Amino acid sequence: MEALEHIRHFTAANPGMMTLTGTNQYLLGREEITVIDVALPGEENIDGILEQIERTGGKRIEKILLTHTHRDHCGGAVALKQRTGAKLGICALRAGYLGGEDFTYKSGESIPYDGGELTVVHTPGHESGHCCFYESSRQILFTGDHILGQGTTVIPPPDGDMALYIQSLEKLLDLKIRLLLPGHGPVIHDPYGKIREYIDHRWLREREVLDSLRGGRNTIPAIAARIYADLSAPLQSVGRLSVEAHLIKLVREGRVVRDGERYLLGGKE
Ligand SMILES: [Zn+2]
Repeated sequence: MEALEHIRHFTAANPGMMTLTGTNQYLLGREEITVIDVALPGEENIDGILEQIERTGGKRIEKILLTHTHRDHCGGAVALKQRTGAKLGICALRAGYLGGEDFTYKSGESIPYDGGELTVVHTPGHESGHCCFYESSRQILFTGDHILGQGTTVIPPPDGDMALYIQSLEKLLDLKIRLLLPGHGPVIHDPYGKIREYIDHRWLREREVLDSLRGGRNTIPAIAARIYADLSAPLQSVGRLSVEAHLIKLVREGRVVRDGERYLLGGKE
């Protein structure tokens, strides 16, 4: 990772879901450290975080922030809090989810840390309470699973929402960003290129879903088998979730009609 003063990271050794790499846990601050995401509760991970902080001049963990409540981002949060006495924060929409939270945050709120200040950017889509953290003075954005260092993110219905996801991507284009620091994979040095690529990818998939319907494929497995023909069996199931997320969006927009397991083009298409 590019050297960013007062920002370190420790990647949890979780195998992650499917093709994802381990979770990047970011450690911000000079001496009083703010941690973004804690993937695993095991000693190996918690020790790894604490050693990394100690090695780089940090004194103690002041607070923990979470991008979202999937296990590979919050699974070790309570363990780290118990071990260190750090204050645990969570998106206000997810208050009480873990138990033992000390504070909540909302979109637009500022969260100072020892060496900078983050602004919360609510980015629903991957998870309805997903938040990115933006540091305007450095023009960096901690993206959690909203944008990944490699591959694309899964939008798992019903909590995952494709329409909101695309809106949450478009929202980022309004920010001045130099670097994206994702929850998995390497730092992204071409933020706008990546954001546009992500948006374009979703529009491409939507067109493919509509084309499949036009071609007479009208169930989720049939559509996924066409669009994700190249994927291995485990990834096919992820593909089906993605197709379902697109269909839910299209049904809501009145462009597709659902009839039990079948989906049919609506009058607008
Ligand atoms: Zn993740």
